[in-house]
Amino acid sequence: MWQYGKRMTAKEFVEYVKGNSRSRLTETHVHGTWSPSKKAFNGKNYRSLQDGMRRFHIHSRGWSDIGQHATIFPDGKVMTGRDINRAPASAYDHNDLDNDGVHPFMVEMIGNFDKGHDKLEGPQLAAAVYLVNHITGGRFRFHREMQAGKSCPGSGITRSWFEQQLKHGRCAGPFDRYQPGQLKEAPNGAKFTRTLQYVRGNQMTGSDVLAVQRRLGVAPVIKHGKPYGVYGPKTERAVRSFQKKARAKNPTGEVGDWTWGKLFGILK
Ligand SMILES: [Zn+2]
Repeated sequence: MWQYGKRMTAKEFVEYVKGNSRSRLTETHVHGTWSPSKKAFNGKNYRSLQDGMRRFHIHSRGWSDIGQHATIFPDGKVMTGRDINRAPASAYDHNDLDNDGVHPFMVEMIGNFDKGHDKLEGPQLAAAVYLVNHITGGRFRFHREMQAGKSCPGSGITRSWFEQQLKHGRCAGPFDRYQPGQLKEAPNGAKFTRTLQYVRGNQMTGSDVLAVQRRLGVAPVIKHGKPYGVYGPKTERAVRSFQKKARAKNPTGEVGDWTWGKLFGILK
């Protein structure tokens, strides 16, 4: 049974949806709350912010329940909202209200993402990317694309940028075990912001990849005379054998936050 107000990681949420959904979720409708903005989140008040939105939706908007199926908080944690098997209150005429078990999945990200205000970044971005990719296979629409006169999810978030994020982290995992501030930077200054893995045909690149290769002694690709991190099969193998030595529960060959912590350390 779907339960309102449960807090979990993005990965847990995807599992929760799999376990509780009898519906076909066609695409993700992406919203930003505008209010509350990120400032309203104090690191603990998940439930009171969620309840505030729910009250507003029921009492001021006259809806039967909170509009969204999920809320993503600035720290990347996800809270359940409306039953996933009911159509959302996302955008007029786009909610697929006919109760046929086919409707969009609606997510609200806490923040005012209009230009010059909050930034969608870090664990919150990773969680949004993870949900859109894993729940609706990367298919999404912004609220403003369905309703004229809206900037939602925020004028600071462009479609092309968000699509880029989906591609870049298309199987990216968010922070499951640690918060971003708990993980040390790699010696080259790279931070853990996404799960690194070998993606055939679309290999991940970046200073985080390079840091992992340096740490594990994998020779990097050289491009224009400079080492260039590309997460290929060799890196995957090196990561897997490192994970076995580090007694990982599940040596996947992917660098999630646990493996990053083992590679580069954790701030106590
Ligand atoms: Zn919206």
